[in-house]
Amino acid sequence: MKVAYTVQEVREQVKEWRKEGLTVGLVPTMGYLHEGHASLMKKAVEENDRVVVSVFVNPTQFAPTEDLESYPRDLEKDCALCESIGVSLVFHPEPEEMYAPDFCTWVDMDVLSKTLCGKSRPIHFRGVCTVVSKLFHIVTPDKAYFGQKDAQQLAIIRRMVRDLNMDIEIVGCPIVREEDGLAKSSRNTYLNEEERKAALILSKSIFLGQKMVEEGETDAAKVKAAMVANIETEPLAKIDYVEIVDGMSMQPIETIKTPILAAMAVYIGKTRLIDNFIL
Ligand code: AMP
Repeated sequence: MKVAYTVQEVREQVKEWRKEGLTVGLVPTMGYLHEGHASLMKKAVEENDRVVVSVFVNPTQFAPTEDLESYPRDLEKDCALCESIGVSLVFHPEPEEMYAPDFCTWVDMDVLSKTLCGKSRPIHFRGVCTVVSKLFHIVTPDKAYFGQKDAQQLAIIRRMVRDLNMDIEIVGCPIVREEDGLAKSSRNTYLNEEERKAALILSKSIFLGQKMVEEGETDAAKVKAAMVANIETEPLAKIDYVEIVDGMSMQPIETIKTPILAAMAVYIGKTRLIDNFIL
């Protein structure tokens, strides 16, 4: 397995693979890899001749008040995991390699990026769309892999690819959870012991909402109220949002009719965690 630090190194490698007629899969990540990322990487290795994993904590998707500086990083461990799964290339650029000092071109989206996480993180999805577009241009993959854990991001990337005619297949992968239900996340490392226990309220209320819908409840407000009430039983939890939206447009709905996304962001202490279910 190779580690590339520059755009040029990646381009040269991909060019060689293309000469041999090989297919290429891409898994974009911010690193500090866990089993959630591993599930994407394994699927990519199964479905492509060569797999590129990008490890890049993208500054343009963080607001100045957010955790860009403290975001956990461990390239050595990430590379060991990638290698054990059969990844061919890890792309780990410095921010200066990705963004020229006078960088001023953005890929942005209306509608889908304005609700849910887009409300409390107004510049987030512009940063995500821009960096993912850049990675698509650099790696030119046949397929790219994204987790349902970030359901709004997945919907936005699918829409970007459709709207901008990008010739890339987007593969969505299910949420990987800890044994007790907590969705795996690099940010879980911020939690102390007490907060780690409290964080279970997210998955518990996700499962509660999912059960109500599966048992036939079609009133979105009722499902949402039950989930909110459940979260409020946890003193360490502070709700950013709990919403039930149309699974394609990300707009709030009143009556549950598939496809839907029920999503939440909840602060446990200072750590903002997300979880969701889709139907
Ligand atoms: P991140 O490094 O957090 O930006 O995540 C990189 C990719 O891994 C994104 O497509 C995420 O949705 C996906 N991912 C992160 N955590 C999980 C998880 N627990 N289950 C499935 N996919 C995940």
